[in-house]
Amino acid sequence: MENKNSGNRSWSIQNGIPGFDVSKLPRCTATAKSTGKKCRRAAKKGRNFCGIHAGLYRPGQKKGTQATLKHGYYTHQALQERREARAAMNSLNAVLETINRDLQSTKNLQTQGLFKYEHL
Ligand SMILES: [Zn+2]
Repeated sequence: MENKNSGNRSWSIQNGIPGFDVSKLPRCTATAKSTGKKCRRAAKKGRNFCGIHAGLYRPGQKKGTQATLKHGYYTHQALQERREARAAMNSLNAVLETINRDLQSTKNLQTQGLFKYEHL
């Protein structure tokens, strides 16, 4: 895009009070592949490149949005919940196993007539 006034982009505020010369601001020195010309966007502070050529802007999805969510089966939260549920079930199974073992031994005692359980 050619600008008639390019090269003379200084401006003034009011009543001829001079502003700063925009053409003297640091510009991006990267060369665009498509045009073969310099990028010429405003460079980032203390750099020779604009945000695009410094790699600051990334295309694609923002993380944490709901846009690509289909069922949520593999979201962080769902995975964590299943992990916790599995751990709880494992510990419960461990407790049940010890109870079963105890019951087994008390049943053995029952057959020996030492204990009598009504509601088991
Ligand atoms: Zn650039």
